[in-house]
Amino acid sequence: MPCEAKPRFVVVYGSQKGQAQSIAEGIAEEAEEHGLAADLSCLDQNEKYNLEKESAPVVFIVSTTGDGEPPDNTLQFVKRIKKKALPPDHYKHLCYALLALGDTNYANFCNCGKTIERRLRELGAKQFYPTGYADDGSGLEVVVDPWLEGLWSAITEALSKMASDKTPDLKENAENPATEIPDVQLNLLSLTDQQSCDPVSPSRSTDSKYASPPAIRDLRPASSSGGAGLASQRPSSVAAPKTQTCNDAELAASLTFSLPPLSESSLNVPALPPPFLDVTFQDVDSVEQTVGPLNRETLFEVPVSKAVQLSRGDSVKTALLLELDISAYPTMTYQPGDSFDVFCPNRADEVDNMLRRLDLQDQKNHHVLITLRKDTKKKGAQLPSHIPQSVSLLFLLTWCLEIRSVPKKAFLRALVEHTADGAQRRRLQELCSKQGAADYNLYVRDPSLGVPELLAAFPSCSPPLSLLIEHLPKLQPRPYSAASSRLKHPGKLRFVFNAVELPACPGRPAGRRGLCTGWLFDLINPCLVFPGKLESSGGPFLPKIPVSLRPNCSFRPPPDPSVPFIMVGPGTGVAPFIGFLQQREEERKEKPEAMFGETWLFFGCRHRDKDYLFREELEDFVSGGALTHLRVCFSRDDRKDEEAVSSAAQPRYVQHNLLLHSQQVIDILFRQNGSVYICGDAKNMAKDVNETLVEIIKSELHVDQLDAMKKLAQLREEKRYLQDIWA
Ligand code: FAD
Repeated sequence: MPCEAKPRFVVVYGSQKGQAQSIAEGIAEEAEEHGLAADLSCLDQNEKYNLEKESAPVVFIVSTTGDGEPPDNTLQFVKRIKKKALPPDHYKHLCYALLALGDTNYANFCNCGKTIERRLRELGAKQFYPTGYADDGSGLEVVVDPWLEGLWSAITEALSKMASDKTPDLKENAENPATEIPDVQLNLLSLTDQQSCDPVSPSRSTDSKYASPPAIRDLRPASSSGGAGLASQRPSSVAAPKTQTCNDAELAASLTFSLPPLSESSLNVPALPPPFLDVTFQDVDSVEQTVGPLNRETLFEVPVSKAVQLSRGDSVKTALLLELDISAYPTMTYQPGDSFDVFCPNRADEVDNMLRRLDLQDQKNHHVLITLRKDTKKKGAQLPSHIPQSVSLLFLLTWCLEIRSVPKKAFLRALVEHTADGAQRRRLQELCSKQGAADYNLYVRDPSLGVPELLAAFPSCSPPLSLLIEHLPKLQPRPYSAASSRLKHPGKLRFVFNAVELPACPGRPAGRRGLCTGWLFDLINPCLVFPGKLESSGGPFLPKIPVSLRPNCSFRPPPDPSVPFIMVGPGTGVAPFIGFLQQREEERKEKPEAMFGETWLFFGCRHRDKDYLFREELEDFVSGGALTHLRVCFSRDDRKDEEAVSSAAQPRYVQHNLLLHSQQVIDILFRQNGSVYICGDAKNMAKDVNETLVEIIKSELHVDQLDAMKKLAQLREEKRYLQDIWA
């Protein structure tokens, strides 16, 4: 008897670091449990989906990257749907739901999701389920989990509605396609949920992600390993052990240990992600020589021609300037404001530890063959595109996987199956459970605990290599802003960075250095020169680093040199402005008769004599006229006059200096059509500056908060308020 085809829907995703992808894959996997079939595609797999003809509901899962940009694999899709020539009924037939991932630490929260949604509506598509806006800054799962729970009934209802009506009985919004609030209620969600970008809290329906089959009493024996052996059952609901007898009041919770009520609670753990990869090894005759990421057309191995420590040795942060010699690569052209990617390897000692942990030291030079498991239950299973065929295990762990990535809950869930010790297994279950969400945030997410640190804390956990490949994302290159102009330094590209130090935490007793900045620091250490010696030679040792340019053309000085502009860049945030000003300096030399608008730079650091980066160069810009106004503040310098510390006359941070110059700021932005550029720390500075600009607009233009915010949004829209910020 032929089986009846399951009703289908489509899941498409746009993902930079794999989060959106893994959510989309999770939906596709779970579909079957709901009697549905999901067609899963990445938004750049044009051959796999066709929205122009799609008659089934479509679920979009999209993240946002950089300053509100689409992920790389979504750029073309966004470009396509933004085409002005598309008629307003282009997607009239389309029924969609959308989950947007973003981070409120950055401006343009969830911008890619919002852009796609706006265009879908403008083109006549109808929403069948309210959009979720998940914030990585406070924990994606806060929005993602309830959104996913409500999704299934919404899809089912949308399907039945579409089946009964042939054409969906959705109230058309084609008359006013840009209407913000769709008048749609195909699901149980209240309309008020749709009216803001706040997390939606759909009413709970049958919960299969957190299905609760009969509780399985898990073990919590004394901490020694070897108790239970590898778990063979796959509990979705785990009851608490009754065996915790120690005096909890004297103990503190930690990464590896929990207290009541969590330790006594029944747990709802996510469903076990189905394994989908098989890994075998092939012994090869010769040891691979590849020492960098595999050649790509856009990747250049460029020598470091200069390395200078900009901050003093006793400064809290170590700021370094690197100059790259790109003269051998004429296609590597950049403009001030551009950034580029540095490809760094994982640390050799961490790779070694991982090999030991996987018990694969002897196979490190073997080629890894990865195939899809024939019997996998994972929907849309694919070979990971970031791992080339026939690379050695050593290469794979060194250049392909972000082995330090923070393990997601699905990964923790999968690790449970490979953990021998009952107590450790229980704790991993807690950390990925609904009930343990706060502990997960506290011990894993907030301190950015990496997989090696997690494995060190759970010694009886021995995952197979295939599991790491299934769950670890691609090793990401790190972007840096160009801190030079090619006009001033032909054939050279400079950048500035702080050597990142992650503090110690329960799972990381010794702290940790940033991956890329730690690698760069070690690499250039032998040829490092110190402040005041910027022009001295880098010495005989010239390491090479793999880099590629990033396409970002919006953070550029105004094309018309007569337009005035303001730059706000404390600390290493000053980097792109050095490029702007070098460019301006050269342009002034080339065209002495031209009109140049005034330029303002607001710089800040801790101490005048320790970390005032580029001090001489900035003062030279002022005396040479490229920089009209330089305003600098020092947040930690002792002040003799204590009152002055709090007074506006002694600004501590860049935003205080902006306030002092409110009139000039308003004049440039609203009377002279000028621009403001912000660069640096996304978490605090960019937010504070944004709030200060709102305050300045309020007080100088005598408008209320909402109007001030609208004016600022308008500037952003006109690309006259630009940010290049990072966490
Ligand atoms: P990683 O090993 O990646 O560690 C950094 C991570 O650790 C962060 O993601 C954060 O989650 C976490 N973390 C950091 N501090 C803590 C803490 N205290 N506690 C817990 N977790 C923490 N940087 C510059 O210095 N100069 C630039 O010019 C520059 N330009 C950039 C331009 C763009 C467009 C972007 C997106 C970023 C830019 N960055 C710049 C940031 C840079 O790309 C790297 O993120 C930074 O150098 C750290 O890289 P890393 O590999 O050393 O650190």
